[in-house]
Amino acid sequence: MCQSFHETLLERNKQVDGISIPAPTIGEQVALGRVFETTLVNQVLISRNPAGRVAPALQQVMLFDVFLGLKSVIVIHHTDCGASQFKEAEVRKAHKSRLPDHSEIDNMVFGAFDDVEQSVRDDLHILKTSPYVPKRIADQCFGYVYDIKTGLLTPVDYVDGQ
Ligand SMILES: [Zn+2]
Repeated sequence: MCQSFHETLLERNKQVDGISIPAPTIGEQVALGRVFETTLVNQVLISRNPAGRVAPALQQVMLFDVFLGLKSVIVIHHTDCGASQFKEAEVRKAHKSRLPDHSEIDNMVFGAFDDVEQSVRDDLHILKTSPYVPKRIADQCFGYVYDIKTGLLTPVDYVDGQ
């Protein structure tokens, strides 16, 4: 039986059960490194950003599609993420106080979320509905929550239209 990348990732992730990562502020870096160092690292492009959000990485997806023949996108957000500790309005307010004439800041998104599973679903929704992501890739987008205490990935279900 030919195992999909998705299945291989989950199977290999189970081998890292028990890893404790006590530094949530660098969760994206650590989480992705731990997940993929035991996986198919030479077949995976890792895009890291604060909160692991898709919106700021969408142009990378477009680039990798054309330049490297991207086949799939995996979104991984983690438990105890710093993105659940701030609010979009706070960040905008801080920047607006320094740059009051820059109205574009009002529309900037910094990745805050309250619910880690929903943030993964929201990002899958972006990938699956964006005109910039070809259907062959959109159909191969998966999402996970990485438990920062156990090192395990939990798949996040996505239903079209969420
Ligand atoms: Zn985080």
